[in-house]
Amino acid sequence: VEMDGFESNEGVILMAATTRPDVLDPALLRPGRFDRRIIVGLPDVRGRASILEVHTRKVPLEDNVDLSVVARGTPGFSGADLENLVNEAALLAARFNKERVGPNDFERAKDKVLMGAERKSVILSEEEKRTTAWHEAGHTLVAMKMPERHVDPIHKVTIIPRGQALGVTQQLPEEDRHNIDRRYAEARIAILMAGRIAEELALDGQQTTGAGNDIEVATNLARKMVCEWGMSDALGPIAYAKNESEPFLGRDIQRPKGYSEATAQQIDREVHDLVMSQYNRAKEILTTHADALERLAVALIEREALGLEEVKAAIEGRPLPPPMAAPKPAPVITSDKPVPQQEEAPAKPAAGFPVAEPST
Ligand code: ZN
Repeated sequence: VEMDGFESNEGVILMAATTRPDVLDPALLRPGRFDRRIIVGLPDVRGRASILEVHTRKVPLEDNVDLSVVARGTPGFSGADLENLVNEAALLAARFNKERVGPNDFERAKDKVLMGAERKSVILSEEEKRTTAWHEAGHTLVAMKMPERHVDPIHKVTIIPRGQALGVTQQLPEEDRHNIDRRYAEARIAILMAGRIAEELALDGQQTTGAGNDIEVATNLARKMVCEWGMSDALGPIAYAKNESEPFLGRDIQRPKGYSEATAQQIDREVHDLVMSQYNRAKEILTTHADALERLAVALIEREALGLEEVKAAIEGRPLPPPMAAPKPAPVITSDKPVPQQEEAPAKPAAGFPVAEPST
């Protein structure tokens, strides 16, 4: 197309990128100017495999590294996340004096990108370790007892402090999730509530700050269900809030809320009921399967990190399979340097939706 200042036969294509199309002057977007818009979303599994190929071009890989497997295991990763993943994997391999990057390096790099770096300098007291183990066991057990279609499968659960969190229960969607349904959102709230409930069960009703983040995430989710996604029967499919997820990096505009005080109270009640019904659902599961909960917590205290197979075995009361490929201590690293601040970034949720929820 001809753009002001260019002749159409000059073969000039002008492209621009922005994260804030909402603030562009409409004059810029008139036909003949920037009149084609291409939205670059997160890559799908094929896209991720291709991106990984680009970033591993100069990285020597072991023969058994299958990038399509890595791509399948990283739903919700952006191109930058994948680049970071390759970089971290290469760093890990180098730390172990390896000539090539292997599948294990990718696996550990993924944990680091998803959950933050392990903070070996943080020593948990026995009591904290016990609390964290029960907390994470609660998340894990409720996730495992939900109908499979409504939850993302457990990928890993650890009580090794990472980033801001003392423990992490990590779920990873089996495939790209573009849309979430009501049962998924409800199950998510139940899983979030389960950490606090398990702590209460194990510590004789004691309540700790460890569930703070879970509670916040669950409340925000419930509010969105009621106010944005029309998932409340009482309030119906009405948008009661500004759409916070304006598709691009958001401004926080103060708008009048556009509903009455009575409606505001009703929203609060609905949010409360929604969270409490899932709280009770989680509590029901945890008390019914109290023995499985205890086995999980004990296994966590013993091994500090469990993969899906170990989680299944602990729940069913079978002997645990050998620990998942545990990283051997680095042979050549000299001193335990303090971890640079940058590495301690809090766990980054993939897919724009909390996948790994840290519990402090
Ligand atoms: Zn938690």
